[in-house]
Amino acid sequence: MTQQITLALSKGRIFDETLPLLATAGIEVLEDPEKTRKLILPTNQADVRVVLVRATDVPTYVEYGGADLGVAGKDNLIEHGGQGLFRPLDLRIAQCHVGVAVRTDFDYQQAVHQGARLRVATKYPTIARNFFAGKGMHADLIKLYGSMELAPLTGLADAIVDLVSTGNTLKANQLVEVERIMDISSHLVVNQAAFKLKQARIKRIIEAFAGAVGAD
Ligand code: AMP
Repeated sequence: MTQQITLALSKGRIFDETLPLLATAGIEVLEDPEKTRKLILPTNQADVRVVLVRATDVPTYVEYGGADLGVAGKDNLIEHGGQGLFRPLDLRIAQCHVGVAVRTDFDYQQAVHQGARLRVATKYPTIARNFFAGKGMHADLIKLYGSMELAPLTGLADAIVDLVSTGNTLKANQLVEVERIMDISSHLVVNQAAFKLKQARIKRIIEAFAGAVGAD
């Protein structure tokens, strides 16, 4: 019997930018996630299916074997911790970076200089904690799940730690980036047990992806 391969993807940029990689492995997703309410999508390969999950849930699905493989942002992999995951490939898709931003009228350098205690709103507490600890600064973290840009504008926080791509969202909200923390891209992650049990099939997918992204 052929083994079923389940790939976890999140809708949007990661899904869209993974499609051409799947094509190099001969895999075509047969339904458009923007046009269906289905969460499990068939592909042209009878043994491969795609499950649609939230970007933050991809590492968890793959860790516990709800999916054999997944595509996850480095941001979400760091927050998850990466346990139980084999991470064979940086796909170099959905590229952006994590930065610190404040209101244009907030003197961040002065706050740093004075060793002020910053209130920082973020969806990425691990990344933020490590960054401010590395600078020897006190940061009181406020965990948010969406629209971090609003936090400094309402007085909820002095600063945010968020993903930045073009910088347009910050600019539109009178925020300015004051620190660049790390570059982010999406990685292929594989469940360690699935990698052993379904090695031949999974290796073919990894090799096709590696060829497509120009990895060594
Ligand atoms: P931008 O205005 O292009 O700088 O994009 C910033 C907004 O898009 C922020 O709300 C980010 O959280 C989100 N964003 C940017 N890049 C990504 C990405 N690769 N994955 C998920 N969200 C992103």
